[in-house]
Amino acid sequence: MTEAKIIDGNLFAGQLRDSLAESVRELRDYHHVTPGLAVVLVGDDPASQVYVRNKNKRATEIGMNSFEHFMPEDTTEKQLLNLIEGLNDDPSVHGILVQLPLPNHINPQKVIEAIDPAKDVDGFHPFNAGRLATGGAGLVPCTPLGSLMLLKDHLVNLSGMKAIIVGRSNIVGKPMAQLLLRENCTVTIAHSQTRDLPGECRQADIVVAAVGRPEMIRGEWIKPGATVIDVGINRIITPDGKKKLVGDVRFEEAVKVAGAITPVPGGVGPMTIAVLLRNTLEAACRLHRLNLPECLTQF
Ligand code: NDP
Repeated sequence: MTEAKIIDGNLFAGQLRDSLAESVRELRDYHHVTPGLAVVLVGDDPASQVYVRNKNKRATEIGMNSFEHFMPEDTTEKQLLNLIEGLNDDPSVHGILVQLPLPNHINPQKVIEAIDPAKDVDGFHPFNAGRLATGGAGLVPCTPLGSLMLLKDHLVNLSGMKAIIVGRSNIVGKPMAQLLLRENCTVTIAHSQTRDLPGECRQADIVVAAVGRPEMIRGEWIKPGATVIDVGINRIITPDGKKKLVGDVRFEEAVKVAGAITPVPGGVGPMTIAVLLRNTLEAACRLHRLNLPECLTQF
């Protein structure tokens, strides 16, 4: 039995960052614009601190400016909104990302809606979500766009394919569905109340798993030859006590049935940060009314 092709997210994300670096250089040399990304973290969650530092490290690696704002856990909503207002007005900042989740006393929706949609590089503002749903130009959430890039790189033309997305969150499931619809897929969105999830999955040429439940999707749920994109990132302890990162798909089963599959780690994960940088470059070009470079118009 032949095993599925492993879709290498590290490789693709590296290539994307290289082409972004080239465009950032051109933007600086020809237009004297350096894209700037501001990342805001409230609280001292160690995992979030690692994410924020990674985002800023990757941004500076490709020649962007990066601004870190670490705020204490007891920051008030008003203080955070004031910071965002300042970043909205700051011409050196083209992208603003507020790391989620926020402490319980801060309303995340209020914060998301305070970000200037032109600088909303996470693509979570209702303006950008609306643009995606209605087919207009706007900033698209990073993880779904990164997943689509991997799919298109592998399948080239998605038109007419049956796709199922397991998960309907605003940050992954719903925007992923909009993107696949835009590619002319026939899209099913599954969730916790879906009846016969295995049967629904078995009909799909493309399975996108964004559930947040370790290895829930089994190999026997996958149609032979289907393409599987595993968005899930779950930290588990193995029976022998070791820490391990797994996806929402049981990889060792699915790899025997699928035509292609993303691994965890090394699949969708690296794409998320690369697309964040892509979105920051797009925001900078649009804010300065410059044509988008080719690396932004391919997908
Ligand atoms: P959410 O918890 O917001 O959403 C999970 C979705 O899964 C919900 O729609 C829920 O349904 C559905 N669900 C839960 N249990 C079941 C079930 N038994 N059967 C069918 N559907 C179910 O998660 P996110 O969308 O934020 O994240 C999903 C996964 O992706 C997580 O593992 C997360 O860590 C990962 N992730 C990875 C990123 C990356 O960079 N690679 C970025 C963002 C997320 P319902 O709506 O009915 O409750």
